[in-house]
Amino acid sequence: MERPRSPLIPVDEARQRIAAAMRPVGIETVPLDQALGRVLAEDVTARVSQPPVAVSAMDGYAVRGADVQSVPTTLRRVGEAPAGGSHPGTVKAGEAVRIFTGGPVPAGTDTVVLQENTEAIGDQVVVHQVTALGRHVRAAGLDFENGQTLLRTGRRLSARDVGLAAAMNVPSLRVRKRPRVAVLSTGSELVSAGGAVGPARIVDANGPALAAVLRSFGAEPVSLGIARDDVATLQDAAAHARGTDLFLTLGGASVGEHDLIQKALGLQGLAVDFWKVAIRPGKPLMFGRLGELPVLGLPGNPVSALVCALLFVGAAVDGLLGRPLAEPTITATLGRDLEANDTRQDYMRSELVRGADGTLIATPLARQDSSMLASLAASGCLVVRAPFAPALKAGALVPIIPFGVGPEGY
Ligand code: AMP
Ligand code: MG
Repeated sequence: MERPRSPLIPVDEARQRIAAAMRPVGIETVPLDQALGRVLAEDVTARVSQPPVAVSAMDGYAVRGADVQSVPTTLRRVGEAPAGGSHPGTVKAGEAVRIFTGGPVPAGTDTVVLQENTEAIGDQVVVHQVTALGRHVRAAGLDFENGQTLLRTGRRLSARDVGLAAAMNVPSLRVRKRPRVAVLSTGSELVSAGGAVGPARIVDANGPALAAVLRSFGAEPVSLGIARDDVATLQDAAAHARGTDLFLTLGGASVGEHDLIQKALGLQGLAVDFWKVAIRPGKPLMFGRLGELPVLGLPGNPVSALVCALLFVGAAVDGLLGRPLAEPTITATLGRDLEANDTRQDYMRSELVRGADGTLIATPLARQDSSMLASLAASGCLVVRAPFAPALKAGALVPIIPFGVGPEGY
């Protein structure tokens, strides 16, 4: 069967076009205690080998392996090698050095006998268990070698990476500056949270949500507040976006009479790249350029805004940070039957639980109305359905975007 032609841009193409249009932001140096979540702007190379010399992995006695191949055997204790200390000289046959975890293995020895397999009597050490040659010794450079590149450009730094950089004797890192992103909520019906609500007034949920999304992606939101649906007001607000790295508008991205983003910014020279994406929730999603400034117009329905933020703002911020686009999905088992999909890639709010055997089970919620933010907050993942995906039975494998394991904080 021939598929109907879609006039909409596929999600992946939109993500790629957005990311490719971004010019990476500048670079700064930060100390390790400010490096969490930042994105590396250069490869990081070890300035030391770890461990610098062979060390013991256990508490016990450093010996010549040949001496402990038949037991019991009695060796003479000739010294001590704690972490941070060392035993001078070369250990000879029949001798043992008391050693502790991290202690440098003395010259002449190659094996560590566990202390629980020995008995100390004065300066005599009776070994009760055969120990294989080389056991419990960490070779110099076991973890990494001086000069080895272990962290690469574009990596978003985790706590594990910060620990590794410290171990590599690298006290500060060259990272991308945090992209500054202007956020403008639009709509004459909007008031700020905590403001005077009423029959014709609703609270601006998207402004705070997008600021939080941006922070979770490592960007810095610059709030431009709320603009009424009025060309002059929108143009005025847009002027304040100058000098930022990206201008995000929320709402008014469609082509209704009150959807004025394209009209208002068009009069200021907005060059539109595309304004429709084959996505649900979403679809009216505008991407263009106002002079040098990239502009991304998200739809106003809060669930659409947040799902589009995850995909398209994420792509923009990755582009600004000089990172390749990440594939956000993993696989889970579908918890209920689904009908065939239509032309738009669907992101369905879903419950996510573990089945008895530990596999992830994702069950799309019955109602997927894009105004319902409570169900987005309560859901554990989005089930992703490609355009024209066939009907599926419960038990099929589906791609999901899990929450709480993806970008921190989303
Ligand atoms: P729009 O995209 O401007 O046509 O808005 C679509 C729907 O989302 C309308 O019901 C708006 O009232 C609502 N909406 C728009 N912007 C926001 C916002 N910032 N916060 C909450 N709801 C919004
Ligand atoms: Mg509106």
